[in-house]
Amino acid sequence: MKYFLAPLGCQMNKSDSERIASVLEEMGFLATESEEEADILGIVACSVRQKSINKVYSRIQKWNGWKKNKSLLTFLSGCILPADEVKFVEMFDLVFKINELPTLPQMITQYGVNTAFSREIMLAQEEKKDFDTLFWKIQPKYSSLFQAYIPIQNGCNKFCSFCAVPYTRGKEVSRPSHEILKEMERLVQEGYKTITLLGQNVNSYGLDRPSEEWNFAQLLEKIGQIGEKSGKEFWVYYTSPHPSDMKTDVLEMMAKYPCLARHVHLPIQSGDDDILKKMNRTYDMAIYRNIVQNIRKILPEATLFTDIIVGFSSETQEQFNNTLKAVEEFEYDMAYIAQYSPRPGAASYQWPDDVPFEEKKNRFHKLTECLKKITFQNNQKMIGKSYRCLVEGKDRKEGLLCARTQGLIPIHFPSLDLSLIGNFVDILIESTTAFAAAGKKLG
Ligand code: SF4
Repeated sequence: MKYFLAPLGCQMNKSDSERIASVLEEMGFLATESEEEADILGIVACSVRQKSINKVYSRIQKWNGWKKNKSLLTFLSGCILPADEVKFVEMFDLVFKINELPTLPQMITQYGVNTAFSREIMLAQEEKKDFDTLFWKIQPKYSSLFQAYIPIQNGCNKFCSFCAVPYTRGKEVSRPSHEILKEMERLVQEGYKTITLLGQNVNSYGLDRPSEEWNFAQLLEKIGQIGEKSGKEFWVYYTSPHPSDMKTDVLEMMAKYPCLARHVHLPIQSGDDDILKKMNRTYDMAIYRNIVQNIRKILPEATLFTDIIVGFSSETQEQFNNTLKAVEEFEYDMAYIAQYSPRPGAASYQWPDDVPFEEKKNRFHKLTECLKKITFQNNQKMIGKSYRCLVEGKDRKEGLLCARTQGLIPIHFPSLDLSLIGNFVDILIESTTAFAAAGKKLG
């Protein structure tokens, strides 16, 4: 019996899919990349964009059509808005919240698919442990042999007005730190080279249980100690932090332990105080500027990435110009720029989407051009220096491999040696573009 799984959206959904795959394989199902040959078909949905939800509708309609000729079981999990859930329950055989994953074997068996149960999961269910605790205990089937994600938290309490996540994933729940450290230790021992801590708002880790759990900086300290004790080379990232919870202790911890990667992804979303207020981001430019100054002081070699939305509801030309100024001021190494589109379920969905489509496109291009100038200047400074890089795979161009620096700058270098993939190499940078660099391997 085979299963097919389609994760949509962000890294969190990909990480959740690794746990779903693990449960299905423990039940005896085999993975397939072909929808046509699967007996169980699942989607991990994303509600961030309507486009993504439309993909769920078109897939389930196709799968339900196949049911005339063969026996199939379909399921849906992930980020689902309550209004969509009502419709999806009618279309899928199973719809469940991701923290209900431990009960998937039971749900599947009730649908008549004969499987072996995971004994530990069954026993735990009988003891009525709560779903979150059980979910974190599931060992994922990692999709890479050298790069892994560790979820440390689920849900979000921030309620940014453009985002539906708090309504789909619920309140912040921190994973017990001993579980996180156990997974980290195992991955380090298995030789994983990059490990990313995942959460909607990682740096509020532990704030939901302040008397029982460490805060994010303390968690990083324990991870740094694992790195020191192991004697192995690996880099730990985290995504995404919220500027309101970005305290200096986190940066100091990163400076203290070499396994904590010199890279900060700090979403700014807008460079204008009034828009930030409207977005309910709970920081202003003065606070954000202060954090960037601390990053530059405490972690001078760290790269800085961000997320920006252009054309948010009622954003004026002047307000957009403030975002342009912010990109120039903070000299980002990368920015993921999105043109605003109202997301069903988010607070701003009720507000006018009044920046015309052409104007959003125009602002997007202007900001991208501004960013390109800055990233090109930043990357130029790499020329003539050597960088430790993790080789990630073959480049699209024959004879080249692609790698990334610790600061996540993409690097290309000539090599036919595929055994380098998944290993660290030193590369001397010889040329750069706005978003990448090229060089030759040393040694
Ligand atoms: S911090 Fe804001 S953007 Fe991020 S998940 Fe929470 S509500 Fe959404």
